[in-house]
Amino acid sequence: HADMAMYHAKAEGRNNFQFFSPEMNARAQERLQLESKLRQAVRDGSFVLHYQKKVDYPSCRVIGLEALVRWQDPDEGLISPGRFIPLAEETGLIIPLGEWVMESACRQAVLWRQAGFSGLQVSVNLSARQFKQPDLAERVAELLTRTGLPPQCLELELTESILMEDMDGAVTTLKQLKEIGVMLSVDDFGTGYSSLSYLKKFPIDTLKIDRSFVKDLPEDEDSCAITASIIALARSLKLNIVAEGVETEAQLEFLDRLDCHQIQGFLFGRPTPADRIDELFLRRGDRAAPGPQASAMGA
Ligand code: C2E
Ligand code: MG
Ligand code: MG
Ligand code: MG
Repeated sequence: HADMAMYHAKAEGRNNFQFFSPEMNARAQERLQLESKLRQAVRDGSFVLHYQKKVDYPSCRVIGLEALVRWQDPDEGLISPGRFIPLAEETGLIIPLGEWVMESACRQAVLWRQAGFSGLQVSVNLSARQFKQPDLAERVAELLTRTGLPPQCLELELTESILMEDMDGAVTTLKQLKEIGVMLSVDDFGTGYSSLSYLKKFPIDTLKIDRSFVKDLPEDEDSCAITASIIALARSLKLNIVAEGVETEAQLEFLDRLDCHQIQGFLFGRPTPADRIDELFLRRGDRAAPGPQASAMGA
């Protein structure tokens, strides 16, 4: 039968056949096609980083920029990470891709520093596979040396679920990274069933409150309660706190009342290419700690 793939499941005995429906077959085909396209894209370097500001409120100073990868496909245009990061992760392509992301972000941060934004931090998301590389810390250290970026200017974002997968292993890796001097944050906090006792053992700097809680502020009582608890938890553990996905003035006001001052979200800007970020900075005069050349930039 033309559409129907069939195989003999040997392990399950001689007469045991399994059938793929045409639908499943089509999906498998699609995945294979996407995988080979992605492999080619990694070879060709068909990706671009967009950066989203993290601001201090109410001063509205830009304190950092998060690098977010997009795939530039000639047919489809920009493809968002949600559509290819999981496949990159499954196939291992995330390793070369993630390396490219980290290196590009560091190089861009060096350029921004040279332009006078010396206090600026750049954040990079790490995937589970990247985090599990035994030589991750060495790779990061080598990258910093190669690009000349001071370690405290690089922040690595790890999701809560990555850390919870192997908590003891995570403690070891985080300590190695912390020794280099990079900053560490827990992304999407509140979604990954954290063991709170472990949180104390992780040498992390920052918790990022997940967008799913911020979204329904201040109308939804549960979201308000959870957000307030996360902020209180961060404060008692002496961690920095960032709210992500802030889109409205009402959300901002609620967070401000809870003394959460580091804000990321469409309200302050969508992720944009690096050259657009330059313009925005210059136009608004937003900068982190002004460097020695800052006055020259102000013109
Ligand atoms: P994330 O690290 O939690 O990044 C925040 C995501 O929320 C970004 O989506 C950003 O565009 C979006 N966002 C920011 N502010 C708002 C807002 O106010 N409203 C709404 N609705 N969305 C907002 P994006 O760029 O599509 O990235 C999605 C996820 O893909 C990221 O979530 C991250 O987990 C992953 N990702 C992105 N770049 C990389 C990368 O270079 N490496 C790895 N491993 N993962 C990446
Ligand atoms: Mg992130
Ligand atoms: Mg997040
Ligand atoms: Mg997220």
